[in-house]
Amino acid sequence: MSSQPQEITALSRRLAGVQEEMAAAAARSGRDPRAIRLVAVTKTHPASVLQTAVEAGIREIGENYLQEAAEKFARLGWPEAGAGRAPVTRHAIGHLQSNKVRLALQWFDVIQTVDSLALARRIDRIAGEMGRSVPVLIEINISREPSKFGLFPEDVEGFLAATANLAHIQVTGLMTIGRFEPDVEAARGEFIAMRELRERMRRVAPPTVSLDELSMGMSHDFAVAIEEGATIVRVGSRLFGARA
Ligand SMILES: *Cc1c(COP(=O)(O)O)cnc(C)c1O
Repeated sequence: MSSQPQEITALSRRLAGVQEEMAAAAARSGRDPRAIRLVAVTKTHPASVLQTAVEAGIREIGENYLQEAAEKFARLGWPEAGAGRAPVTRHAIGHLQSNKVRLALQWFDVIQTVDSLALARRIDRIAGEMGRSVPVLIEINISREPSKFGLFPEDVEGFLAATANLAHIQVTGLMTIGRFEPDVEAARGEFIAMRELRERMRRVAPPTVSLDELSMGMSHDFAVAIEEGATIVRVGSRLFGARA
């Protein structure tokens, strides 16, 4: 499968626009732009779009729906995680049901959405059976919206203590989905709260836990998220257009 040159050109242009805004946001907050990674979110788009993404230079992608993602990765001939190197690092960014953990570990390099201790333990056990160790982020429900998944901030310290000895997961940071409001400033306070939570948790975390990553910011609010400390932004529609 190879992409049409005009598709690659169009995506490259949108990618350059996003990267420029990322760099500008980093500069405004005195951060090194190289410390911020772009995860391109390809959910609902066909395998051909992932191929175009690779050809345009995208190196990390995020998918929400595991079955859909697995089919696309297989169609592209990408190896399963742990079985070889795909052209991109694959992040699972959707709510992970316990009966899909094996599928997630089969196809993804990073799981960003660990939202309970039971799920963390299950990922650890199955990763162990598969002979892998997987980096994970803890999803935080920072806005405390009932519609959202994630740990509440006050539960993170206990979670870190309880997972410190799990050999097959490495907790590398925190992830959140910002409040979705037309005014992007609405989410700023939550991004600040995430950064402060990360700093507090760094001080109490077991020595094996690094908590370097802060995954926050999407198409409409990634610049604000970077200003407030995001190390990973997850951008879909700005790169690939509106989803069906
Ligand atoms: C869909 C999705 C994104 C990307 O959203 P856009 O608004 O299209 O950039 C990022 N993070 C998560 C968790 C998502 O589900």
